[in-house]
Amino acid sequence: MSQVNVDPVEIEKFQSIASRWWDTESEFKPLHDINPLRVDYIDTHSGGLEGKRILDIGCGGGILCEALTRKGAIVTGIDMAHMALKVAKMHLYESALEIDYQMTTAEEFASAHIGEFDIVTCLEMLEHVPDPMSVVAAAKKLLKPEGQVFFSTINRNPKSFVLAILGAEYLLNLVPKGTHEYRNFIKPSELAKAVRANQLQVRDITGMTYNPFTKNYRLSGDIDVNYLMFCNRQ
Ligand code: SAH
Repeated sequence: MSQVNVDPVEIEKFQSIASRWWDTESEFKPLHDINPLRVDYIDTHSGGLEGKRILDIGCGGGILCEALTRKGAIVTGIDMAHMALKVAKMHLYESALEIDYQMTTAEEFASAHIGEFDIVTCLEMLEHVPDPMSVVAAAKKLLKPEGQVFFSTINRNPKSFVLAILGAEYLLNLVPKGTHEYRNFIKPSELAKAVRANQLQVRDITGMTYNPFTKNYRLSGDIDVNYLMFCNRQ
């Protein structure tokens, strides 16, 4: 049997800060700040979310799942940090939304749900797993024939080291020190290669850039650090 594609050290990092998922001034502030941008991106590129069945891989406390549900999607969220899922489920009492949260890996979930989803989202998660390409393969398996996938992760180059690690973790304290490992960052070319190897097509790559002076994020053509990738089945 193949090894489970989970890094226990990474999961522990998320377990220890789970209580603050919905605190918009916590270490999760960057995710709250970029959420409207990425929801818009997914909404626009997918052609609308109303009634779509979406699987969110690495859903954490449910920031993306809730926003997608508010747009009319039927959302399932999976994660391997059980504390994050507890928080996500608790938050449903506050938001009064319905979301199916499950503790499982993309690979395990895919083996039982082949071809069930219109859209798979996997944002800011690939850089935390031992084998990101296996998650890409699982995402493909989960898609309906016309299905679409959205990934986001961090590019790997000197600029991303300076901005995403030195800048975000050490200078600006946007996220805790040790949140990201440089070696786990993924170049768009590497992700695109894995996407194509799974008979998916890259339809768009867009950057998410942070301006430390205005403290704003925006979508841009600069994919040197954070980027989103939209793919569909061929
Ligand atoms: N996608 C969310 C959360 C990103 S944080 C968002 O963008 O808002 C990364 C999440 O991935 C954490 O919740 C962490 O627990 C989860 N994760 C890390 N490794 C995982 C794995 N192997 N399987 C499922 N989830 C994983």
